[in-house]
Amino acid sequence: MSGSAKSLLVRLWREHIVAFWPILLGATLLMVIEGGTLGLMSYLVQPLFDEVFVAGDAAALTWVAFAIAGIFSVRAFAGFGQRLLIVKVGLRVTTDLQTRLIAHLLALDARFFQDNSPGALIERVRGDTFALQGLASATLMSIGRDTIAVISLVTVMVVADWQWALMALAGVPLLIVPLYSVQKRIRSTTFDAREAASDLSTQLDEIFHGMVSIKVNRLERYENSRFGKQIAHFLGRQMRAERGKAASPALIDLSSAIGFLVVVYFGGSQIISGEKSLGEFMSFFTALALVFDPMRRLSTIAGQIQAAMASLERLYAVLETQPTILAPAQPVAVRTGDVVFDEVRFAYEESEVLRGLSFTAQQGKTTALVGPSGAGKSTVFSLLTRLVDPGSGRITIGGAATTDVDIAELRDSLALVGQDSTLFDDTIAQNIRLGRLDASDDEVRAAAEAASVLEFADQMPLGLDTPVGPRGSGLSGGQRQRVTIARAMLRNAPILLLDEPTSALDARSEKLVGEALDRLSQGRTTLVIAHRLSTIRNADLIVVMDKGHVVEQGSHAELMAADGAYARLHQLQSAGVTAPL
Ligand code: ADP
Repeated sequence: MSGSAKSLLVRLWREHIVAFWPILLGATLLMVIEGGTLGLMSYLVQPLFDEVFVAGDAAALTWVAFAIAGIFSVRAFAGFGQRLLIVKVGLRVTTDLQTRLIAHLLALDARFFQDNSPGALIERVRGDTFALQGLASATLMSIGRDTIAVISLVTVMVVADWQWALMALAGVPLLIVPLYSVQKRIRSTTFDAREAASDLSTQLDEIFHGMVSIKVNRLERYENSRFGKQIAHFLGRQMRAERGKAASPALIDLSSAIGFLVVVYFGGSQIISGEKSLGEFMSFFTALALVFDPMRRLSTIAGQIQAAMASLERLYAVLETQPTILAPAQPVAVRTGDVVFDEVRFAYEESEVLRGLSFTAQQGKTTALVGPSGAGKSTVFSLLTRLVDPGSGRITIGGAATTDVDIAELRDSLALVGQDSTLFDDTIAQNIRLGRLDASDDEVRAAAEAASVLEFADQMPLGLDTPVGPRGSGLSGGQRQRVTIARAMLRNAPILLLDEPTSALDARSEKLVGEALDRLSQGRTTLVIAHRLSTIRNADLIVVMDKGHVVEQGSHAELMAADGAYARLHQLQSAGVTAPL
């Protein structure tokens, strides 16, 4: 086993398993009993033949029959108990691991989730922990029970005739080299299989999330064949891993073929010549027949551990990823005041997105960010909410840099209403309450009223308690937006970040959403990524951005008078070309 595998196992043991030692001890005891019963069983075959069948002793018949029945009953209880205990520990360990993974994932940067798709992460949190559990349970059971079984059966064989035993098991040591070489490959093939399973989950996630566009664009067949290819890839990888796992028991069977041949030939001739009793031979033969099964299982253990290691490696890789957006050691208090971007530069990997962006959004006023797509407007919001940090330059609120205040406090002072209204599969009321979890029912209702949510919710039989469906699929686009606006109202944060929807709503929805937004931005420092002419015109300041910096700023009237970029954009939009703004 490699050093890293050992350290992974040690870590798993220390952090997750060792706490369950009393249960494991109990399970081990039961495994010893279960394993030992096989030895006893084969030992009893000798009196069964010699005293009962050959000698015809009726009294012996009774005790041998009851003894065998008794052994099997004990085996049943011990087996039942040990399985339950091991599975219990396995489930506790995996559920603990899942809880820890989620807590860790929730603390990671937004950027991590751009590199790791939801499907792949689901596969890690669910698939890998379950793979680990199944393998770990099987391995623990096998180590405990099968070792004892092998020891007790071999003892019976040696007691019956050590020379036979030697001959029968002579083939086993010869297997060590081929077994070792098979097991070595299992970890890497299993790792590949787990990666293929991740890709599969990613694709499933994309299919289910993109169902509407798949249907509308009639991409069913395309997606079907894409999935077909992916699953064929998965099948290939999984089969490679399984082939490795299946090879070890096959090798043991080959060696048992040799064992049986030798014993039947030599043992049989000794019985014919009268040197040995039939009972001795049958007892030995039973033990030999029984020993290969636990041996087969034991031969797969190293492979099982290697396979579990592949999942464990993937799980710890997540746990070892550290967030890069860090809280300051000595945070200053969040202040209210102007939001100032001062010479801010920011790049995603190689591509520079913001190139010295400077502007001031005055407290209590509305600032509209305008400019072509890709200008960096959304990045302004990501920086303010500290989903990402600037490469250089400063972002301050009331004079305090966003990187100097506590992240939680900073985010409490911001409310974000995005383009895609993120709703969860819960009731309308609960979706609003996500703005402030301790809000009373009356406060939720007041927010719903102000955002024109009651308008439609009251028409529904369950009112605000109506479930919105997965990702809000039970509501219309305009309704979803109003729910997110109500959420922001409840949040009552001094700074509002608004990404105005580009997708057209019907006139009535647009009016209701517009009014709700106007009410929401009253008295707050509002930054809006604006697309609608009316929003832009009414803003206190318009910041025209292009390629990561400000090209113009001022009020609508000022910018029109300047007859620059804004005036040109405005003319285009007035003429019905909506895209540029
Ligand atoms: P806007 O909101 O003005 O349309 P964005 O702020 O969304 O612009 O994006 C600005 C630039 O940053 C775009 O060129 C985009 O390709 C790039 N970008 C945005 N997000 C990422 C990302 N996660 N990784 C790499 N580049 C990104």
